[in-house]
Amino acid sequence: MSLFPVYRPDHVTSLQTRRCFLKFGAMLGSALALGGMPVLLHGATRRLGDLPADPFNLGVASGDPTPDSVVLWTRLANEVLTEVGAASDAVEVEFEISDSSSFRNILRRGAIAAVPELGHCAHADVRGLAADTEYFYRWHVGNATSPVGRTKTAPAGSSDNQKFRFAFASCQQYEHGFYTAYQHMAEEEMDLIVHLGDYIYERSWGQNLVRHHEGKEIVTLADYRNRYITYKSDPDLKTAHASAPWIVTWDDHEVDNNYASEVPEDDQTPEQLLLRRAAAYQAYYEFMPIRLPVGRQGPAMPIHRRLRFGRLMEINVLDTRQYRSDQACGDGRKPSCAEHLDSNRTLLGDAQKNWLYDSLANADATWNVLAQQIMMASLRSLDNEGNELWPMDIWDGYPFERQQLLDHLETTATPNPIVLTGDIHSNWAADLKLDFDNEASTTVGSEFVCTSITSGGDGQDMTDYGQALLDNNPHVKFYNAQRGYVACTLTPEQWRSDYKVLPRVTEAGAPISIRASYITEAGRPGVQEA
Ligand code: FE
Ligand code: CA
Repeated sequence: MSLFPVYRPDHVTSLQTRRCFLKFGAMLGSALALGGMPVLLHGATRRLGDLPADPFNLGVASGDPTPDSVVLWTRLANEVLTEVGAASDAVEVEFEISDSSSFRNILRRGAIAAVPELGHCAHADVRGLAADTEYFYRWHVGNATSPVGRTKTAPAGSSDNQKFRFAFASCQQYEHGFYTAYQHMAEEEMDLIVHLGDYIYERSWGQNLVRHHEGKEIVTLADYRNRYITYKSDPDLKTAHASAPWIVTWDDHEVDNNYASEVPEDDQTPEQLLLRRAAAYQAYYEFMPIRLPVGRQGPAMPIHRRLRFGRLMEINVLDTRQYRSDQACGDGRKPSCAEHLDSNRTLLGDAQKNWLYDSLANADATWNVLAQQIMMASLRSLDNEGNELWPMDIWDGYPFERQQLLDHLETTATPNPIVLTGDIHSNWAADLKLDFDNEASTTVGSEFVCTSITSGGDGQDMTDYGQALLDNNPHVKFYNAQRGYVACTLTPEQWRSDYKVLPRVTEAGAPISIRASYITEAGRPGVQEA
């Protein structure tokens, strides 16, 4: 099985290998190793003294867990660094890892440089941890100590793990509501949280806004950084990041609504969009606990990657925005046109597609997940004259590549394919059919779609839109348009998705409840109401 380059040791961030230095673990006396070798920092890194305010005001996060590593994240507030004259310096930040939240027993200590080029965000890719183990971490700079985060490494790839619990979520337009869903998610102390994109929104939209973005549509690196600061200041989001490791991928709004590769939504040239993409991708890297080769690499930033959680689950994290052909027939819900049917059009791009197909052909986990953005099951509708309309921004808009992928799942007999989806601001459960035009055709997998955390405001259980789509697409079994997240419980025998919803997000503190639960039995593709 070929490994995506992100996990080759020689791909450990070149920035870190240049700028990191390591201290010896106080308890174990062993050096933290990056790529198997201790790495020394050279160049000027400033060690700060007393600080006038808390520099850790965006909290902490961790992500991309493997059996022996996890990425720890934090950021130093620019206002605080400015007050002590360190805003343009590389600043030393220390981290500590313990087996308890009291930090009585410190297992590891290390330090890295938070550099101004990356907005003083810090990513520590800590290696040599024990598999399937809960850890607590915190950061120090000067006299300040960060909040404590809880994280967990993945089970060993060959382990016969019997249970795994994680949540997945998407779409958190800050103005549309409060992140109460995250408070509930944090309380569950998940093994993992997966975010499928629309973590920020590039502009204001909608009605009944309960809080506000600063400024107009964002374009520059400074704009994107400020937008992440606004979103990440939310206490419930901070709590959720501190509660478990996250795996993140982006959708469109991290750059521009419905952009496709270098094609913007409106009024920008491709050159302008590529510059904007470079800024947006860099800010995404800076603010996310993500393991990437380097943080600043221009408009091209591959983030598709694979993570394994014992024999129970493998997750293929996809990016359906960076490489896609432009939406066909003018985007939106449209009748088919010649462009729509063009077999040269792509969603994944060649490199990602080949990597994914290879991964699926060699898959040996019980549950093989595609963590991605856009609905894969067909959601075709009929207009008043009975003409078929296709939603051009989702997999329906790329029918040739979707058919190729579904055929590939069938011919390679990928065990138990599960597609996880965000983007659409509603909950769905659907069978993935080899032929969506034929109810009797083979079901090759299951799709679970999570609603938004806030986008769209309070929402409702059923809408005319949802009912019409259910009626027209018999492979789709469930719809709900309230806000919340999906909590998944996996065993070797069963995948269970609990659709957790809130009665409102326009006021903070709403309770959460399970609206519906759908399962897939191992060896029996498709969704069933629990
Ligand atoms: Fe969205
Ligand atoms: Ca979206």
